[in-house]
Amino acid sequence: MERTLVKDTVSKVDQEILLKGWVASIRDHGKITFIDLRDRSGIVQCVGQNLPKVTPESVIEIKGKVAKRPGKLVNKDLETGEIELQINELKVISLSKELPLPIDTDGYEIGEETRLKYRYLDIRRPRMTRNLRVRSKAAMFIRNWLIERDFVEVETPILTKTTPEGARDFLVPSRLQLGKFYALPQSPQQYKQLLMVAGLERYFQIARCFRDEDPRADRAYGEFTQLDLEMSFVEQEDILQLAESLFIELVEKIFSDKHITQKPWPRLSHKEVVEKYGTDKPDLRKDKNDPNELAFAWTLDFPLFTEQSDKDFFYGSGKAKFAPSHHMFTAPHPDDVSLLDSDPTKVRGLQHDMVLNGFEVGGGSIRIHDAGVQQKVFDLIGFSEEQKHQFEHMLTAFTYGVPPHGGIAPGIDRFIMTVLGEPSVREAMAFPATAGGATAVVNAPSEATEEQLEELGIKITKKEK
Ligand code: ASP
Repeated sequence: MERTLVKDTVSKVDQEILLKGWVASIRDHGKITFIDLRDRSGIVQCVGQNLPKVTPESVIEIKGKVAKRPGKLVNKDLETGEIELQINELKVISLSKELPLPIDTDGYEIGEETRLKYRYLDIRRPRMTRNLRVRSKAAMFIRNWLIERDFVEVETPILTKTTPEGARDFLVPSRLQLGKFYALPQSPQQYKQLLMVAGLERYFQIARCFRDEDPRADRAYGEFTQLDLEMSFVEQEDILQLAESLFIELVEKIFSDKHITQKPWPRLSHKEVVEKYGTDKPDLRKDKNDPNELAFAWTLDFPLFTEQSDKDFFYGSGKAKFAPSHHMFTAPHPDDVSLLDSDPTKVRGLQHDMVLNGFEVGGGSIRIHDAGVQQKVFDLIGFSEEQKHQFEHMLTAFTYGVPPHGGIAPGIDRFIMTVLGEPSVREAMAFPATAGGATAVVNAPSEATEEQLEELGIKITKKEK
């Protein structure tokens, strides 16, 4: 017999069917037993007598007949509440031990270490299942939307060279070239610009980014996902309009219970917004108690550089007076290029930040496409000759016909978190790392074996505390 999904039971009254799934709950009424069976499509009540021993969360198969429930027994809270399955045969496929955490609550009350250790159970909770499903739908919508508009999806390397976005790199030792290391990309920034030199004109990727920085509620430790995109022959206005239409349509299609406070999104200059709100990512919701309100905004006209002290961390050098506000590939405003020589702090950058309910959900810019200007920015941020050498490929690429280009990279985890009103990005990710940096379930990082270290030519010395 073919399997029926729970959601289809309602249309099969009086038919014999086969269901497969998990035991969501058991209610033993002496002679008769009620079992709520859950599969990916929903929950349905099953009822039978003299059933084999079964525990909550076991995997079972049930054959039985769909019966209409009498009027007063209809359960309005359940999509299948008008029917129940009369069990003819119940087969236990895999018994479950008692779960180490409840999954019939929203889960916020449970310690995160426990939730992440048993994430595969934690995801059975309806809230987590919903978050992952909604995320998948959003990703699919984005893909289709961009592909319809001539974008090409390209995967870029994970084992690569440093691509600084202002955080520390994760390093991976090379076995074939002893003593050398790959860096995991903090973003695909350089590759996407190289793809513009390559003539793709419109690129996107739902890309993983790796940054070794301290975790916060709105930032997962280690890795996160961005919708990374880049376009050629565009001005900042084109990027703003494209991203704005994409996210408005995404919200209207996939999150139709949400409403956007203001359309078109307000545009705020960095100076004005910092003066008025004391932050460059203001929460512009009209009613902060309304969980369905989405207040998008653009912050523009950032200064190209921020001044930094010796203590600030930047690209490992920590010595330069200026750090890029965004990253070192962001173009100066064309009217301000001469100020690069006279007064760099006054130079405006063609950076744009996408703000949602007080979170920065995306950032991007028009890029430098002139090797001379790029050199100047390298100098201003205090790059040594060696550091410049690390980015020589960009300057070289720019000597072979580079179109003006720019892009943006909205964070997927952060967007889903904000739209769903979740308290942390980890609620929008299947297997995030704990705040302490241990990965869910498998508890990485872990020690390497002596053999592995030897093969890589690595000796571990314990750091003095
Ligand atoms: N690579 C940038 C980031 O990760 C985004 C961009 O400039 O497009 O923030």
